[in-house]
Amino acid sequence: MRCPRDQCTLIEPGSPQLSLYADNGIHCCEKCQGMLLDAEAAQSSIAREILNQMHEAFTVEGNEVALDCPTCETKMRVRTIVFRKPDGSETEPIELDGCPSCSSFWFDADELQSLTPSLEVTEEVPEVAGALAVLIQMLLLLPYRIF
Ligand SMILES: [Zn+2]
Ligand SMILES: [Zn+2]
Repeated sequence: MRCPRDQCTLIEPGSPQLSLYADNGIHCCEKCQGMLLDAEAAQSSIAREILNQMHEAFTVEGNEVALDCPTCETKMRVRTIVFRKPDGSETEPIELDGCPSCSSFWFDADELQSLTPSLEVTEEVPEVAGALAVLIQMLLLLPYRIF
């Protein structure tokens, strides 16, 4: 599978062997640190359920964007999503690209980073990908609203 932004080959969830990648079906782009989440590839049933619920919102609405779904090559759609934090406040809205056909989502690194301004994506800091993956895993456990 290839990154929809820069066409680099995405790293499969199994390599490196990090359970949170496998749990959430995360394919990561080494170049831009963007992440593909796929309900089909998620090993955690909770993650699969949440991703399938989020997918519903993309089947009915959303503006088509110039991104081909890395999984099935359908044109993806964009929607705005806000997560509610445990203290009751809400995260900054982020733009989430989702496939109307299969249950894949694309998280751009800079969208995720807007939630954690301290992270900086540079080639010297590959562990940012790990931090972003942790962030995604936390987000998926929070209630959310899609606009
Ligand atoms: Zn990329
Ligand atoms: Zn798709």
